[in-house]
Amino acid sequence: MEIVVPEAFKPLFEQSDDRPIVKVPADVLRAKAAPVAKVTARHKHLAENMVKIMKQARGIGLAAPQVGVSEQLIVIAPEGSAMILYNPEVLEEEGAAMGEEGCLSIPGLYGDVERPEKIKVKALNRKGRDVELVLEGIDARVALHEIDHLNGVLFIDKVDESTLHWRHPDDQDED
Ligand code: ZN
Repeated sequence: MEIVVPEAFKPLFEQSDDRPIVKVPADVLRAKAAPVAKVTARHKHLAENMVKIMKQARGIGLAAPQVGVSEQLIVIAPEGSAMILYNPEVLEEEGAAMGEEGCLSIPGLYGDVERPEKIKVKALNRKGRDVELVLEGIDARVALHEIDHLNGVLFIDKVDESTLHWRHPDDQDED
């Protein structure tokens, strides 16, 4: 689907030092991100920076391609402290639920996406150690949205198009 950005939302799509998040239609958002062979100091710095950028943008998840880095790294923080995951891989999924999503790379656009309700994910944690996590509800949704980013997939590819709508961030204060 091609996104036509309404005039009033175009300023949100401008990229700058203050707004470092890459926006559609940047190619990096459609590329497959490379696996992280080893978590290095560079990755740790990148991950910390991503957490900062995500919080500043009042987001609840961010994938490395959204800061222009085509590597398999996501940060998620549906509530509370941020979780940093490298090479996340969905091992199992269960159930299905509809929920509204937006994306910091398509600011202002929202719509309903069906996702599994519960997932089991394998990844490397912030220290580079193997972990397995069971995520449910909003945690699962955010993780799946960010994992999609690592495969060049955006929520607009999966959205129920009849629910797509623009909502200016000045008109709301949710994250
Ligand atoms: Zn997104």
